[in-house]
Amino acid sequence: MSFQDLNLNTPLRNALEDLNFQKPTPIQEQAFAPIMSGKDVVGIAQTGTGKTFAYLLPMLRMLKYSTQKNPRILIMVPTRELVVQVVEEIEKLTAYINIRVAGIYGGVNINTQQQELMRGLDIVVATPRRLYDLVLRRAVQLKSIQRFVIDEVDVMLDLGFKFQVNNIIELLPANRQSIMFSATMTETVEQMISENFKSPEKISIAVSGTPLENIDQQNYLIPNFNTKANLLKHLLADKDIYKKILIFISDKRIADRLFESLGQKFPGEISLVHTGKSQNYRLKNVSDFDEGLSRIMIATDVMARGLDIEDVSQVVNFDTPNYPENYMHRIGRTGRAEKKGQALLFTTEAEMDSLKAIEELMKMEVPKVEIPAEVKISSELIPEERPREIEINNPNKSLEDGGAAFHEKKDKNKKVNLGGSYRREIAKKYKKPKTRGDKNANRRNKK
Ligand code: ADP
Ligand code: MG
Repeated sequence: MSFQDLNLNTPLRNALEDLNFQKPTPIQEQAFAPIMSGKDVVGIAQTGTGKTFAYLLPMLRMLKYSTQKNPRILIMVPTRELVVQVVEEIEKLTAYINIRVAGIYGGVNINTQQQELMRGLDIVVATPRRLYDLVLRRAVQLKSIQRFVIDEVDVMLDLGFKFQVNNIIELLPANRQSIMFSATMTETVEQMISENFKSPEKISIAVSGTPLENIDQQNYLIPNFNTKANLLKHLLADKDIYKKILIFISDKRIADRLFESLGQKFPGEISLVHTGKSQNYRLKNVSDFDEGLSRIMIATDVMARGLDIEDVSQVVNFDTPNYPENYMHRIGRTGRAEKKGQALLFTTEAEMDSLKAIEELMKMEVPKVEIPAEVKISSELIPEERPREIEINNPNKSLEDGGAAFHEKKDKNKKVNLGGSYRREIAKKYKKPKTRGDKNANRRNKK
């Protein structure tokens, strides 16, 4: 099938030609007619399969020129970065169409957005909370919305946006078309559908959990943060192979730590995005990485979901995610649009259960790779990895009372408490080798 087979118009065809897209992806092909029919539609397909255009193409095809003030299309996405990205995709597709579109998200001046909305527009792309604030300010009315899209609905619900999404839905006209896209189908997603959709047509492209075939996966069994950082420093030194690396970490404090640690070896080459950073910082870091100004980006899961960054050569799972679906989303950032990609997975002893869950979901084992001999195996633990002895020593102290001073003391105490005995405990746990040869012997003995 080619784009010629879809009922597109000349301006859209020309825009696609400029983009050099040869043919629609399966989800684009299969979602087109149902969306054109005006029915409610639910689309499930893996990351990187072109879901954005799957809803944009038919919606833009149906959108007629108008000067009316109230928007007719509302697209809701979970993060600010995704707002920016979807707006860009719309701009690409509407190079030859006169259309007014606005991206609405929190963390930046609300008055500017209010003014933009009040000038009148056709399409609003928004995160739910900021949009709702603007509705309350009467900057925008949603009574003319004809089509409503929730993109990345699974992330939206994971982030706890259900309440905000429902608030918005209540303001929409009942005779609207609702469209929803997700990479995974979970129970909460099902519930969302049954509460808000009218007998939707479901389009499902691949079983959620099927790994993309063009991603080469590798698993390192590795004891702790410092050893992981050593391994990364060793690998990333090869700039020919490691061209554009996206590193996932679930915890933002660990992300900060890694940023600092890698920054010593690769100054100026690293972007960092997590929810603790300001909006401007986040946008700049993502665009630096996207444009190749920084070779490495460290990101938490929430920040990176749905982001489409071209030509990521490697995805590094700095930790083994608790939810196997998150692994699928992470590795889906590479090998996009049928290019080859590589995904590294770092697993500690404590994360073995998570690894098993991932392998069960994919119905395959992630091939094991040995840590290269040049990499220093560290036994030094970072504070987050040390056991929380402080609570036992100070039973009356809660974590909340006391800010920095408390933490400082906690670290000091730990040093005293841990001493050699803790080292020995860890050494025992990992059967820490004295030399590389010992280590392999230990591995063999374990089996
Ligand atoms: P998803 O939302 O499913 O994760 P995206 O919509 O972000 O995927 O698309 C992934 C990438 O594929 C984007 O860079 C997009 O420009 C590209 N893409 C989309 N449709 C096509 C197509 N028909 N042919 C080639 N590339 C495409
Ligand atoms: Mg998407």
